[in-house]
Amino acid sequence: MSLKDKLTEKQITRRSFMKWAGALSTTAALFGCGGSGGPDEYGSVVTNQDSFEFDNELTAVMGTHPHNCGGRCPFKFYVKDFGTPKAKIVKLTSAGDIPREDSLDKDESIEFVQTRACVRGYAQIKRTYSPDRLKYPLVQTKERGDVTGFKRVTWDEALERVADMISEVHSRYATGELPYVPMVAGPPNGLHNTMMFAGMPFMGFAEGAGSALSQYLGPTILPTGAPSFENMLFASVGSVGLLPGLAGGNSVYNYKHSDFIIQWGADPAVKEPNKTFFLTKAKEAGVPIVTIDAQYTDTASILSTGFPEYDLPQFIQVRPQTDSAIAVAMAYIIYKNGWHNDDFIKTNCFGFYPTQDAGNDSAGNPFPFVEAPKHPGYVMHKLDFSFTKQLNNNQHPLADANLYNQEIHVPTGMSFVEYLDKLGVDKAVELGIPDNQDAVVTWASQLSGVEKTTIINLADAFAHAGDVFLENGNNGGQKTNNGMHNVWMMICLAAMCGHTIKKGGNLGVNSSDGESNPVTFPGGIMYPQLGKGTTYPFIAVDANKFVDLVITGRDGRNKEQFYKDVKYVSEVDLGSPETAKLEVDMVLGSYHITNSFNTCPNTNKAVNIFTQKEGSHYKIKHYVMYEQFMTPTAAYADVILPACSHHEKPFFTSGEATYFQNKLVEPMYDTRSDVDIDIELAKKLSAKGIPISYGKDGKTDEELCKEAWETAEVPADIEKPTFEKVKITGKIQKEIDTDNIPNPMEVLMNYLPYTTETGKIQFFSPFYYYRDKCDLSTQEGAYRIEPRAMYVEPYQGYDKIMKKENTGVKGIEYTMQFTTKHARNRAHTVYDNVSVIRDKFDYPKRAIMNPSDAYKRGIKDGDEVYIFNDWGCIKVGVGISPTINEGVVSLPHGVWYRKGSETYEAWYDIDLGNSVETKTVETVDYYKHIVHVDIGGCENTLTHDKDFGSPKDPLCGQVGDNHFNGNLCEVSKVHPDRR
Ligand code: SF4
Repeated sequence: MSLKDKLTEKQITRRSFMKWAGALSTTAALFGCGGSGGPDEYGSVVTNQDSFEFDNELTAVMGTHPHNCGGRCPFKFYVKDFGTPKAKIVKLTSAGDIPREDSLDKDESIEFVQTRACVRGYAQIKRTYSPDRLKYPLVQTKERGDVTGFKRVTWDEALERVADMISEVHSRYATGELPYVPMVAGPPNGLHNTMMFAGMPFMGFAEGAGSALSQYLGPTILPTGAPSFENMLFASVGSVGLLPGLAGGNSVYNYKHSDFIIQWGADPAVKEPNKTFFLTKAKEAGVPIVTIDAQYTDTASILSTGFPEYDLPQFIQVRPQTDSAIAVAMAYIIYKNGWHNDDFIKTNCFGFYPTQDAGNDSAGNPFPFVEAPKHPGYVMHKLDFSFTKQLNNNQHPLADANLYNQEIHVPTGMSFVEYLDKLGVDKAVELGIPDNQDAVVTWASQLSGVEKTTIINLADAFAHAGDVFLENGNNGGQKTNNGMHNVWMMICLAAMCGHTIKKGGNLGVNSSDGESNPVTFPGGIMYPQLGKGTTYPFIAVDANKFVDLVITGRDGRNKEQFYKDVKYVSEVDLGSPETAKLEVDMVLGSYHITNSFNTCPNTNKAVNIFTQKEGSHYKIKHYVMYEQFMTPTAAYADVILPACSHHEKPFFTSGEATYFQNKLVEPMYDTRSDVDIDIELAKKLSAKGIPISYGKDGKTDEELCKEAWETAEVPADIEKPTFEKVKITGKIQKEIDTDNIPNPMEVLMNYLPYTTETGKIQFFSPFYYYRDKCDLSTQEGAYRIEPRAMYVEPYQGYDKIMKKENTGVKGIEYTMQFTTKHARNRAHTVYDNVSVIRDKFDYPKRAIMNPSDAYKRGIKDGDEVYIFNDWGCIKVGVGISPTINEGVVSLPHGVWYRKGSETYEAWYDIDLGNSVETKTVETVDYYKHIVHVDIGGCENTLTHDKDFGSPKDPLCGQVGDNHFNGNLCEVSKVHPDRR
């Protein structure tokens, strides 16, 4: 018998079959209880339980796993009664590998990207058939957050109620009372017209936000900010501009051409498993790989090798938020020892050397004088993705044509070498160390917890190993309060040694992996436009300051910034800087991918603001969700419109290939696709005097996908498959000549004159410096953030512990930091309710701490502990492991918030309207609010929402800020308010 025969489904063993059949019976029983169909509908997957015959009538149908890990693994789904109303997904197999018959020859080839599906993808049927799927439209009949108050209603009743709510808030705009609709409802999400289920540009409160209809209502409010990469985006804007493809990271195909790979704050083995195959190949080729992170990761464990020639270990453990201090120390060593690539810097970089009033360094040597570039004029196109729309000088500080040909200087003292030199002098004085370099390295070592020799060896290897692929991932240092400057430092570090454009080098950001995808959809992967009529701009606000926006009308920007941004970028005149405020009467959310109470910083503030009442109504009067599950966020909605899953409609998505998800089953229970919900809602609104034309013109979703495919383009040397073929293969991918993939930055360097003010890689950003007051004649700016690469002390971090400034408003000394690593079993918050993988990976031990910290607190493995700070408190089981640094507690990312019965005294620097006590600490007023202990373990219960670290500028594409790793906290076995 051949291997192939052995592997056919008919040869399934009795043991594995019984396991499989048992699981299906359980599922069938669950659906019999909760679904619209009874046991008969779902119980007939196995034809005869006694004969052990596998059902050969299953149809294999191609699809994908589009939840946002970064990959889009293709899957083959086996569907019973495919194409009928009774269709049911029975099983699935990963379809990312090469065909089995070719496996001996090609299984190790990287010519075709071979995605390796992970547990999340394999669990997707469990999610779709999860017993807690939302099955019917629901309205809340009790208080928000009380899930016992939800009552089933018909679609007609639910949509009528939602249309009434929208009409009410819309009337304030229609009558001229407000120049905007006081409603949060962003652009359509992936189930509407981008057909990309995950990876939306707008996250936080607006991930996949809102109904597609909102753009036809009038200017509505769009909270922006992408927690996964917003610091990378802001750093890119400052250094290289918004390059096509966001940042220009080198291809994963070029890992193997590298001489040294650094995975810094990146854990692709968990976060982006689609990249691990390429790292494995690099490892097999002998490329040294070192991982730097706050927590021992799977990448460190299975992919890293260390670099013996430079005495570097597999894994360098750094304290949260201190990564950029190490990068600064490396830059200092490299510069002071002359290891930098001066030619590359002088040809391609701006802001490294002074351009104005160059003084002497600490050794008395004059800085080399570098001529200031003329203003190239191209900045008129900056930040416009198409490079065609001209910004006016209200929109961009340097867009005034009169400024053309003027010189742009690095203001005195603001160049990178002046920063390094001053740092050396300051640290020598501060630490009493005579040698400046030793002082800088000592500072970085004390702060980060990394040995001095390791930092020196790292700098040595970085400068001398050859092509260095510095990958700065979506985890770690990027997702912190000083993450923007962390990424900026990485970009500058790479530029100092010219690694930016080397074949095996990297810009210093995340790697790219789309070279094997030959398909482009002009304008993005789009459904044909379903709506007709006038569309309006959105008013971009900081998603992370949403609560403050509701309370104060602004999101942390000052009056002038807020007024000007809204007027000139969003084209809505709020009157004057004094009066510029936004009101929020309604939130219309369509989340699917995540849930905002979990995603936004300071979860307790969000819960407060949605449950707070003013008289007989809530402060935010109406809250409507399109959802699939009773997430912590959905639980606080007034109306829930149940949406179908990605298995219940067709769509395209893209990654290493372009993938097509066939519709596998009909929308289950009484659910509908977002598009179909919007079409019905549009009819209701039209009947109420808000005419919105929105519909499919009688076409099916598949027919619309076919229309979209007809617009797709492939290169001339590739035959474009028919839509019918795409449905069968499920993916369109091209073979790669793996030795001849250019580093994208080789090409993107040519874009710099269009994307930066200086046409160079910027260590100093004129855009950030001159943003609010352009004055080239005096070379003065009014910057919103530090406009150069440097170490920025975070609002909360180990600096505060070292300086003994770690006592909070509650009077408690917070001696620990927490870090929020991606989990194997979740894509952000998705899958936390899917018990089959949740229980396997991180339940009930949701937190992990170091044995030493546990011992000091009398904590044993498996104990339930309180983890808390001024903003909140969680109570979870804790595991004890030396993989966590002393002083750090790990809270895996994406755990769902669950309101416990115990309460906790939280303190904020804003009165939400229902504080119970106030006090002043160092001139700042603080307000006590009673919150609930979170017994889920949501990391954002403990994250702050202070303004810090980002430019909060809609001209950067979003206004967000990022706070997730490194905040201070404390751990106790006893309730902190009762200690
Ligand atoms: S989560 Fe990522 S790696 Fe895992 S199956 Fe989905 S797309 Fe693939």
